Amino acid sequence: MSGILLWWLLIVIAVAIVMALIRYVRRRALIKDRLSEARRCDGCGYNLTGITVPRCPECGVVIGFTKTFEQLGIDEAQVRRHVQARREDAATDSRTDGDDC
Ligand SMILES: [Zn+2]
Repeated sequence: MSGILLWWLLIVIAVAIVMALIRYVRRRALIKDRLSEARRCDGCGYNLTGITVPRCPECGVVIGFTKTFEQLGIDEAQVRRHVQARREDAATDSRTDGDDC
C-alpha cells in the first residue's frame, strides 16, 4: 500500500515540476516577444522605451529620421520646451476632467 502511495507522490511531484518548467519557458518566451516589440532606433538599434524627447540617447538620431536635430536644422531645446508644454497641458486636462463629476 505504501509503495503505491509513494508512486503517486512521485507522479504528482513530477507533474508539478513539468508544469513549472512549461510555465517558466512560456514566461521567458513572452518576455522575449515583448522586448523584441520595443521600439528601436533606426540608426543604432538602441531600445527607445521610456524616452521623453524624440531623440535616441545613444546616437542622437531623431526618431523617424536618420539624422540628428542639428543635421535637420531643429533646435533641440525648442523641442524639449514643446514636449514639456504638451505634458503640462495633458496634466492640466486630466486634472480638469475629474472636476466635471
Ligand atoms: Zn540610435
